[in-house]
Amino acid sequence: MKRVLNFIDGQFRPPGSGRYIPDVEPATGQVIAEIADSEPEDVDAAVAAASRAFASWRKTPAEERSRLLLRVGGLIEENFDELARLESDDNGKPVSLARRMDIPRAILNFRFFATAILHAETSAHATDDRALNYTLRQPLGVAGLISPWNLPLYLLSWKIAPAIAAGNCCVAKPSELTPLTADRLAGLIAEAGIPPGVVNIVHGTGASAGRALTSHPNVPLISFTGGTKTGADVMTHAGPLFKKVSLELGGKNPNVVFADADLEQAVATSIPSSFSNQGEICLCGSRLFVERPIYDEFLDRFLAGTKKLAIGDPREASTEVGALVSEAHRRKVEGYVALAKEEGGEILLGGKRPADLPERVRGGYFLEPTVIAGLDGGTRCMQEEIFGPVVTVTPFDSPEEAIALANSTRYGLSASVWTRDLQKAHRVAAAIDSGTVWVNTWLLRDLRVPFGGMKESGVGREGGFDSLAFFTEAKNVCVKL
Ligand code: NAP
Repeated sequence: MKRVLNFIDGQFRPPGSGRYIPDVEPATGQVIAEIADSEPEDVDAAVAAASRAFASWRKTPAEERSRLLLRVGGLIEENFDELARLESDDNGKPVSLARRMDIPRAILNFRFFATAILHAETSAHATDDRALNYTLRQPLGVAGLISPWNLPLYLLSWKIAPAIAAGNCCVAKPSELTPLTADRLAGLIAEAGIPPGVVNIVHGTGASAGRALTSHPNVPLISFTGGTKTGADVMTHAGPLFKKVSLELGGKNPNVVFADADLEQAVATSIPSSFSNQGEICLCGSRLFVERPIYDEFLDRFLAGTKKLAIGDPREASTEVGALVSEAHRRKVEGYVALAKEEGGEILLGGKRPADLPERVRGGYFLEPTVIAGLDGGTRCMQEEIFGPVVTVTPFDSPEEAIALANSTRYGLSASVWTRDLQKAHRVAAAIDSGTVWVNTWLLRDLRVPFGGMKESGVGREGGFDSLAFFTEAKNVCVKL
């Protein structure tokens, strides 16, 4: 049985507790590894190692940091097949998706920030002829990085790469449900020649290892991606210590289709935007709003396309829908399907565990892609994040109504708008309260753009130079002339 150890000061180390947590393959329900159940003492050791490494890493020239990060990107690429397989086994996602999205993005994250630091600029302000001000951007020290299970390596590298590119050292806590690619990344980071202590990875539960990080006095910065409720707990502990905090939280994203949209494209994209990664992407459009004149036709095509999605063994290249991440999470999602019926919804498709799964994955946590109609906008199923293969469909009659429906939750992460009317597209995009609005597309990502959520979907922005700004402290130097 594979044992996942902590990676501290360049070495793999067992947890002080000597305890391990089983790591389950969601597609089979079988334990495939056990992972370190770390306690605050392990986090202390990792923070101490990171603090020591910071003394020299902060002085390492940007060109050298860049070279080392590019090596990590190259090593991920060299180990592409293995990493894609590990991600799929650990999370339940189709291996084809890991190959198309997760692993390429992890490579890109390292390459992007490795080169971004070579192009970063700072500002200077002349105060008439009396003084010259210039801004230094300096790393803070030890960054605490906490990531979720849905896009394990993708989001972990989205934090590690900018943190260390900017000259910080870090202690990362991946989700206990999906530790395998983080463990492999630790090995690649050592192989790339990143000095010991610059990157430390501590495994274990959020309640123990995660909270030890958010409340650690020597960790001045926390970058957290996860659920909104956990984000509140992170704030509760990081706030009194005045840490710099970035929170990327949950979403209940609207997907608004106007009658003048390119119907074929809107349907073809709304299927993956609802069900990719079993709906376990924070950016999935979980509330579909369709303008009434095309509602029936859109729905017919949407249901027909969704029915064709291949559910099965995530290891098979042809599989499009894999397993949910855990039994507990599937129960939670099934609970919402049951609730939807109580709330007056009609299950148009799915809602059940699939029959006829291949032998290897019969014990896995699968759920059919589910489409629910007839729910009122104020119901819990229309308001709360379900984070599974479940989408609601609702007709609307005017742009104003669509905007009001889109904005009717406490979330504001992302949205999609489908229309051929340019003016309407800009007007509706400006009126929707979310960090990202896609027009006639979904999940088209440029890593230079600001990324984050409004309302309860997050605090702060990462991406491009916003990430480098977050992972550095601005200092004004004023020189009297
Ligand atoms: P989660 O339960 O909030 O956990 C996220 C991470 O925080 C995990 O590593 C978790 O550890 C850790 N954690 C749990 N409790 C903690 C605490 N009290 N203090 C510090 N860390 C703690 O979220 P999840 O279920 O893994 O991920 C799904 C959520 O993430 C969804 O809401 C989704 O929308 C959101 N998400 C948002 C974005 C975005 O960019 N906005 C991207 C992806 C996902 P353990 O799980 O190991 O206990």
